[in-house]
Amino acid sequence: AKDEGRNNYQYYSSEMTESAFERVIMEQSLRVAIQQENFLVYYQPQIDSENKKVVGMEALVRWEHPDVGIVSPANFIPLAEETGMIIHIDLIVLKKAMTQFKEWYQQGLTPGKLSLNLSAKQIENNNFIEILSDTMQTLEFDPAWLTLEVTESQIMKNPEDSIEKLKEINALGIEIAIDDFGTGYSSLAYLKKLPLNKLKIDKAFVDGLPHDEEDIAISRAIIALAKILNLDLIAEGVETKEQQEFMLENGCKVIQGYYYSKPIDSNSMEKFLLAI
Ligand code: C2E
Ligand code: CA
Ligand code: CA
Ligand code: CA
Repeated sequence: AKDEGRNNYQYYSSEMTESAFERVIMEQSLRVAIQQENFLVYYQPQIDSENKKVVGMEALVRWEHPDVGIVSPANFIPLAEETGMIIHIDLIVLKKAMTQFKEWYQQGLTPGKLSLNLSAKQIENNNFIEILSDTMQTLEFDPAWLTLEVTESQIMKNPEDSIEKLKEINALGIEIAIDDFGTGYSSLAYLKKLPLNKLKIDKAFVDGLPHDEEDIAISRAIIALAKILNLDLIAEGVETKEQQEFMLENGCKVIQGYYYSKPIDSNSMEKFLLAI
C-alpha cells in the first residue's frame, strides 16, 4: 500500500502535500506516544486443541491514542519500521508483557509461553540482547517462558547477521519461531542454519481450509517440513471448527485464532486464564 501511495504521488501533487503533511503529524504523535508509553499490549491465546490448554500467547501492540482511541498495528507499524521507532515500541511491549507475565506466574496462573514479535531493526540493534537479558534478570523472568517471533523477510534483510544474533538469543534459553511461514521467500538452506524451535503457519494458508486444494497441499507440506526439522507448529488465523479439525487431523495441535479468541486486553486475559 505504501508503494502504491508513492506512485500516486507522481500524478496527484495536491495529494502528495496532504499525505506528506499527515505523515509528519503522525510521526510526531507517535514520538509523543513513545515518550509517554501510550501503548497497550493485547494477548491472543495459543491453545492445544486436544486438551484445550493454553500453551502460550502472543503479545500484540495497540496504540492508545488520546483522541482517536485504540489504533491497530497495521496503521502505525509500517511508519514505525521506516523511522526506526519500532525499536522503542518493541521494547515498551517487551517490558510491559514480561512484567504482566511475571505477575500472572506469581499469582499461580498458567499463561504458558509469551510470544513477542521482533522486527528486523531490533535484530540489528546491537543493544537488544543486553537489554533482553537485563530485563529478564531484573524481573526474574525465566527465559523458558519466552518465544521471539521473526519473519523470513526480516531475517533475509541481513541473513548472516540475523543468524548470529538469533543463535545468541537461543543460547539464553529463549525459543525462536518463524512467523508467517511460507509467505516470505527464504531458502530452505537458511532455514537449516537458523536456530529454530517453531513454525507458525500463516493465516493466508489457513483461510482456504478445509476446501481449497492448494491451501490443503501447502499446509500439509509445512506440517511435514516441521516434522522433518523437528519443529513445533502453530496454526494462525484459525476461525472455524473445520479449520481447527483439519489442523488437528493433519498433525498441528496448537491453534491461535478467532476460533478460540481474538487478541484481548490483560484484564480480559486474566479472566480467561481464571476460567479455564
Ligand atoms: P502477526 O505477527 O502475524 O500477528 C497476527 C495477527 O493476526 C494479529 O493482528 C492478530 O490479531 C491476527 N489474527 C489472529 N488470529 C486471527 C483470525 O482468526 N482472524 C483474523 N482475521 N485475524 C487474526 P494484529 O494484532 O492486528 O497485528 C498485526 C501485525 O502487526 C502482526 O502480525 C505483527 O506483524 C505486527 N505487530 C503487532 N504487535 C507487534 C509488536 O509488538 N511488535 C512488532 N514489531 N510488530 C507487531
Ligand atoms: Ca507474530
Ligand atoms: Ca503471523
Ligand atoms: Ca501476518
